Amino acid sequence: MGPSILEIDLAALAHNYHYLRSKIASETMLLGVVKANGYGSESVAIARKLAALGVDYLGVAYTHEGVALRLGGIKTPILVLHPQPEEFSDIVKHCLEPSIYSIRTLEAFIKAAPWEGHYPIHLKLNTGLNRLGLSLGKLAISCEILLNQSNVKVKAIMSHLAATDDLKEKAFTRLQIQRFKEGAAFIEKHIGPVALKHLSNSSGILNFPEAAFNMVRSGIALYGYGNHSKIDSLLKPVATLTTKISQIHSIEKGDWVGYNKGFVAAKKMRVATLTIGHADGISRVYGQGKGVVFVSGNPCPIIGNVCMDMLMIDLGNHVAKEGDKVVIFGKGASAETFASEGKTISYELLTGIGARVNRVIVG
Ligand SMILES: *Cc1c(COP(=O)(O)O)cnc(C)c1O
Repeated sequence: MGPSILEIDLAALAHNYHYLRSKIASETMLLGVVKANGYGSESVAIARKLAALGVDYLGVAYTHEGVALRLGGIKTPILVLHPQPEEFSDIVKHCLEPSIYSIRTLEAFIKAAPWEGHYPIHLKLNTGLNRLGLSLGKLAISCEILLNQSNVKVKAIMSHLAATDDLKEKAFTRLQIQRFKEGAAFIEKHIGPVALKHLSNSSGILNFPEAAFNMVRSGIALYGYGNHSKIDSLLKPVATLTTKISQIHSIEKGDWVGYNKGFVAAKKMRVATLTIGHADGISRVYGQGKGVVFVSGNPCPIIGNVCMDMLMIDLGNHVAKEGDKVVIFGKGASAETFASEGKTISYELLTGIGARVNRVIVG
């Protein structure tokens, strides 16, 4: 086991799951998003826990992520949000459900699906994010294609919202919800009733309850972050990243710390070298006054330039010794705060934690 550890707390995951359930109607289904290795944690462990908690669906971005869950013994329905045509045989082989987001993917999946097997697909509409999805102008042709075959069956209509976490853009979110309703009504008028409709992500669940339809998709909130400090205080961080103090130096005024004179001591001070660096996901945007870590609960700024395998912190007058544990983020040290010090968001920080950091499951 390496010196840096990402502790994954399944009890915190259960807490967040129950919180989200309390925010939706009892008949509304919940899809837990476990893409990008469970937001940087450990997707199979997260998926197993969510399945045990009673999650209705799981979601991943790419096909191989869904295959890994199946190989890990997960039996829950799995939606693949962004599959590629060359992977469609794997989708079928592993009983995954594809998001179909274009005429190209619709035609390719109909070819790949079992003959007259009514294979379930989620038809994804573009309601304004302009990332993935059938534009509303393509729905008539999509319905015509669907009516002329029975290899696939539309199990769900879905879309994705662009700014659920930004209440200044409420009008745009409402416009997207309206377009979604219209698109879904058009499809159902032409091909008949569709079992599921899902639109909301975590912030959508919390800020736009009217957009829940009969399923919602949550990622970041399950991991303990709600894109708002008030919500963060009600959730528990699943992942806690810790590392160690490897060496402590007492340095004099004018001494350098790290590569390229990244820091020059203004006075006599104590500097600790930690066993984590940019190869582990602590970006080089940190340092030079950006980013604070915690030694026995005491905040210590990252100084100089972050190295590949190490970084240095100013210990101030805090009591610390070589071998001590240091908390980068997690319990008692918000990843959202650390991320914002690096001008990014919790999503990027969490998913960027490197493979060299050991994942340890607790709870
Ligand atoms: C990642 C993703 C989600 C989850 O979003 P959160 O903000 O993490 O809840 C939901 N839907 C789609 C299409 C996604 O890509």
